[in-house]
Amino acid sequence: MVSYKDLGLVNTREMFKKAVAGGYAIPAFNFNNMEQLQAIIQAAAETKSPVILQVSSGARKYANQTLLRYMAEGAVEYAKELGWENPQICLHLDHGNSFELCKSCVDMGFSSVMIDASSLPYEENIALTKQVVEYAHKYDVTVEAELGVLAGVEDEVSAAESHYTKPEEVIDFATRTGCDSLAISIGTSHGAYKFTPEQCTRDPKTGKLIPPPLAFDVLHEIEKKLPGFPIVLHGSSSVPQEYVDIINEYGGKLPDAVGIPEEQLREASKSAVCKINIDSDSRLAMTAAVRKVFHDKPGEFDPRKYLGPARDEMKKLYMHKIINVLGSDGKAE
Ligand SMILES: [Zn+2]
Repeated sequence: MVSYKDLGLVNTREMFKKAVAGGYAIPAFNFNNMEQLQAIIQAAAETKSPVILQVSSGARKYANQTLLRYMAEGAVEYAKELGWENPQICLHLDHGNSFELCKSCVDMGFSSVMIDASSLPYEENIALTKQVVEYAHKYDVTVEAELGVLAGVEDEVSAAESHYTKPEEVIDFATRTGCDSLAISIGTSHGAYKFTPEQCTRDPKTGKLIPPPLAFDVLHEIEKKLPGFPIVLHGSSSVPQEYVDIINEYGGKLPDAVGIPEEQLREASKSAVCKINIDSDSRLAMTAAVRKVFHDKPGEFDPRKYLGPARDEMKKLYMHKIINVLGSDGKAE
């Protein structure tokens, strides 16, 4: 049994309380490798932004859960070396799908876990979520639950169709499970192809897809039912078209990749939405940078010469999200 407190990590409770009151959101960035983690920590340290490091099931398979946990522990020390005296870093399990998995993360030093039982019938979702909450709270680990279904594919999480969270269920769900935050479905979606061309309109000038707006009416309805309760948005990459264009220009093939416009995420950040998950955007930044190096310098074979620029590009992206989209800069001085 390792307590996250001994690793210098924090849970989400204070982070979310301040974020809801202050009208901003905490960035939740997924990480799978060293360069991504360095970029996240550099961006958070430079902007003094609280940050949530997320580990998905795909990341655990790719990089190993134990190694990722030690990397997060190292990240706290690294942040201090970068001059961030009091780093506010949370290590969070993304889309836990069983009690055993959530328990294993609590036991090995995660400060927050998500139990995603949203694909189960309502009562089963409540029962499983409650079981995780009861265990996690013994160790002061915070729990995110999910109600409603997001479309799209994110590692092993996939659903063909979304359905919005039903506002009439949220009070009952939050009360009976005791969860600390709630991921809702209001039209965000996992992956780099969040919407089909049929769901979008097309900009006649650029030919780019314009996605349908998020269901802010559903969000506001939920906020009314649960005033001040921390709300989470998954699948909230904006799929920056400059990266898509670079990837396509240098031999990639990402036709009609489209995400959530940043203005809408900015607006959501000002509400009870206090955690916004961003994964695909850093994948795009990394891929764009690597493709460009391979194109410009075909003789290059030192991984540091293409992973270095990829790291720089991801850091730029993370800083942009923190400062211009979520508004979390300066909130963890
Ligand atoms: Zn997700």
